[in-house]
Amino acid sequence: MYRTHTCGELNKKHIGENVSLSGWVQKSRDLGGMTFLDLRDRYGITQLIFNMEARSELCKQARKLGREYVIHVQGLVVERSNKNLKMPTGEIEIEISGLKVLSSSDLPPFTIERETDGGEELRMKYRYLDLRRKPLQENLFLRHKMAKEVRKYLDGENFIEIETPYLIKSTPEGARDFVVPSRMNQGQFYALPQSPQTFKQLLMISGYDRYFQLVRCFRDEDLRADRQPEFTQIDCEMSFVEQEDVLNMFEGMLKHLFRSIKEIELTDDFPRMPYDEAMRDYGTDKPDLRFDMKLKDITSLVHGKNFRVFDQAEYIGGINAFSCAGYSRKQLDQLTEFVTQPQIGAKGLVYLKINEDGSFKSSVDKFFKEQDFYQWKEAFNAKKGDLLLLLAGTKSKTLVALSELRLEIGKRLDLRNDNEFIPLWVIDFPLLEWDEARSRYAAMHHPFTSAKAEDIKWLDSDPGRVHANAYDLVINGVEIGGGSIRIHVKEEQERMFRHLGFTDEEAETQFGFLMNAFKYGAPPHGGIAFGFDRLVALFGGSESIRDYIAFPKNNSGRDVMIDSPSAISEEQLKELNLRGGASKVHNNVILNLFQNLKLLITSRS
Ligand code: ASP
Repeated sequence: MYRTHTCGELNKKHIGENVSLSGWVQKSRDLGGMTFLDLRDRYGITQLIFNMEARSELCKQARKLGREYVIHVQGLVVERSNKNLKMPTGEIEIEISGLKVLSSSDLPPFTIERETDGGEELRMKYRYLDLRRKPLQENLFLRHKMAKEVRKYLDGENFIEIETPYLIKSTPEGARDFVVPSRMNQGQFYALPQSPQTFKQLLMISGYDRYFQLVRCFRDEDLRADRQPEFTQIDCEMSFVEQEDVLNMFEGMLKHLFRSIKEIELTDDFPRMPYDEAMRDYGTDKPDLRFDMKLKDITSLVHGKNFRVFDQAEYIGGINAFSCAGYSRKQLDQLTEFVTQPQIGAKGLVYLKINEDGSFKSSVDKFFKEQDFYQWKEAFNAKKGDLLLLLAGTKSKTLVALSELRLEIGKRLDLRNDNEFIPLWVIDFPLLEWDEARSRYAAMHHPFTSAKAEDIKWLDSDPGRVHANAYDLVINGVEIGGGSIRIHVKEEQERMFRHLGFTDEEAETQFGFLMNAFKYGAPPHGGIAFGFDRLVALFGGSESIRDYIAFPKNNSGRDVMIDSPSAISEEQLKELNLRGGASKVHNNVILNLFQNLKLLITSRS
């Protein structure tokens, strides 16, 4: 038997018992006639003590053990004279009478402790060692607990978990597909699912009524801290539901998770905000409502005063960074640098300080009169001591920049408290969005989303005006989930494809199976999918989803530990008929590429 107890289990109650433990050597120290050794496993750390006088052989053996050796020991639980009340095992230690080395260890490339000296890249390469560290173990345990609670809640609501295939045909979620060549069907490719969207809709048609799946999704897109090429969704679909039914069901799931995992009772209904309002007031469809600081459109107020930057701008707006009038030149320069960095893209920053004595100081003093500044002050409802920050440019870009500036000021003013969680449903999304590059409309959510009944009349004449039965759940400015009520009538789905630029034949080739299924009695249905990694990261208090995934990829989509992606052998290539130039490539390859391109065009990016 390798162990009678784990390394986190023994305490005063066990004093006098003979026990055996197995685990990793965390560290050891020799003190005169004694060697103390910390033994670690998943459950905790237990102090072992080797006595040179009583058992010199054993003690000498212990002194040779290095960090991360795996050992098995027997001994007697005794009370510690020097107690450590901060750890559960801190009142006891084990007087060792038997030791066996199960496995030796090279010196690890970084310290396996809560705070490590290893850099990110090194830790990714030795991920299996990094995963030994407590913070990562806590993260994966949180993930496990959340998955368990999700299943518990949904099971209690009659949802059943059904697996859908990974080797499929493209599903349009707006990213590129990962493709897998088929050996048995040469020249043809599977696509890995960007989501199980079409399958869950088919399951509704099959009568399963309430489906869910904790499922891996694959999207080939540029990576950020909160994106991975493969990620996990809590994917859900329900039949015979309207938007309100879906929102209430999943509000319930989030409340359950907050209650069971974080002991936070979210008693109020989650607020709902139309997309247009979110964009107007926060410049984003995922506002962080932990603080107010709404954007203010002052275009009409500042136009026509002979300040060219403003006069030429489509939109001028700003925020009131309250209580910041005392900002120094340096701080204002930092903010200007912040908004003009390429990712944010503003051209410059205009400020107005409303000094404590009521006087104004602005970067555009030359162009505006005091009377103008009074108007600005009023528009923003500003007080003495406040600082107005203004940006100008095209409306869409300026809103994005203002939204980032708002978050930055929120951070500087310490208004984004990690222990506060403010959920929000953003509803009434536009059905379509204008794709500048391709000069056409594309589906904002995906092509299976239904339009608001009252807006359908504009679908031909003014497509941009049509709203969708689509919704996102946002918590603290993070998009946690999104979904929609679907189209379930064949003719409507056909019409939608036509609007997205598909010919009838293309729609048939790509989604004929779904439209065919609609012919055999499709219930009205709708659903939602949550980004599980992001949700766990939010609960864990971090922005990086990587810390919550056992084996993530780095920023270039690589797994540096197993060194993937990597080249495959000539033999494999040949077997798949993937070499030899276009002449040898089957027509289907071209067809597939063409269809994937089409999907990119018709979905949001
Ligand atoms: N399939 C959608 C997505 O992955 C979610 C949904 O509409 O249910 O975003």
